[in-house]
Amino acid sequence: VTQETTQPEVNIGLVGHVDHGKTTLVQALSGSWTDQHSEEMKRGISIRLGYADATFRKFPDTDEPECYTVEEERPDGTKSDPLRTVSFVDAPGHETLMATMLSGASLMDGAVLVVSATEDVPQSQTEEHLMALDIIGIENIVIAQNKVDLVDRDRAVDNYQQIQEFVEGTVAEDAPIVPISAQQGVNMDLLIGAIEDEIPTPERTEGEDARMYVARSFDINRPGTTWENLSGGVIGGSLVAGEFENGDEIQLRPGREVEEGGKTEWQSIETSIRSLQAGSENVDSVTPGGLIGVGTGLDPSLAKGDALGGQVAGTPGSLPPTRNDFEMDVELLDRVVGENDEVEEISTGEPLMLTVGTATTVGAVTSARTGECEVKLKRPVCAPEGAKIAINRRVGARWRLIGVGTLTE
Ligand code: GDP
Ligand code: MG
Repeated sequence: VTQETTQPEVNIGLVGHVDHGKTTLVQALSGSWTDQHSEEMKRGISIRLGYADATFRKFPDTDEPECYTVEEERPDGTKSDPLRTVSFVDAPGHETLMATMLSGASLMDGAVLVVSATEDVPQSQTEEHLMALDIIGIENIVIAQNKVDLVDRDRAVDNYQQIQEFVEGTVAEDAPIVPISAQQGVNMDLLIGAIEDEIPTPERTEGEDARMYVARSFDINRPGTTWENLSGGVIGGSLVAGEFENGDEIQLRPGREVEEGGKTEWQSIETSIRSLQAGSENVDSVTPGGLIGVGTGLDPSLAKGDALGGQVAGTPGSLPPTRNDFEMDVELLDRVVGENDEVEEISTGEPLMLTVGTATTVGAVTSARTGECEVKLKRPVCAPEGAKIAINRRVGARWRLIGVGTLTE
């Protein structure tokens, strides 16, 4: 088997309720060779955000949808041609991981919403994840009605109608619904065809400043490594614009907290790129799509244990400002997701958990009016005006999504 080394060009989120079959579907589409992407760095990032790459292919002289496949060869020997390599971001379904789902969402160009045909629609995370897609503004969606092998025809049709009713009026209203069995590999061709139609590779502008959302960071040195042999800190995440090349200078924001004269302040960090990884390969340059690992000249202790997760890296001088506080326009949901309670207005003094890009931070509301509020953050974020912010409020023992903010200044 020849291994595909093409860098993925589009990130597709897998979202939906726990146990509805997201991981099984990723496995069915990405085949066995994703298991080979097993170096520690890649694995570490994958566990948190669950990335896996797959190359979609097409058999020549074959009708749609049967032509679509992830296999390189049919039993009769016909070879398929590669269409494009995609990267799946397998969002965790567990509800306490909603923040991770939202930080993953900022890296998604489109999403497959997996809904099990064996349960009533919607289950709580089906609803929560669809709202998150709505909030982050992900419009290219395919719905996979999974586990159709476990239900009879009537039940499948019934469930299909429930899905249709559920998505009415949402961002997924016009999304195709494809009945599949991820476990049995049924209708994978139809699903790939739908993804090819609905989730195009975003157009990239040449020569744009590079910008990367950092999801994780590492110190990859073994304990006891002498300083001459130390590797610099590694950051992992996705490039959303521009290109990184080996040797490029990059800047990170917010950077690090520096103490001067009894005052602490966040200062951006500049460093250079020492190595680049895309998929499982060491490469000389990377473009947007998929998960990348960037070896830097940073002091590894700065990168240890995801310390740089949530930061933005890119072309020096081009990054959005670091903000310790900001104002946002607020749109509240009608109901608290996962509960039946109405969402009450945001009030001055209350703590909120805010997800901005891959950063999650707690902020205290310093001023609240209908439709807008000001927050002061515990940890600053690097974000442009217009950034979308997922707003979570503490309800009982956990944080619940209550609305979306748009950063105004
Ligand atoms: P996730 O939590 O959404 O990632 O769900 P998983 O992929 O872990 O699947 C949960 C369980 O459902 C596992 O035991 C799978 O084997 C099973 N499963 C997933 N897809 C199918 C399917 O199409 N048919 C059947 N019968 N079982 C499935
Ligand atoms: Mg899973």
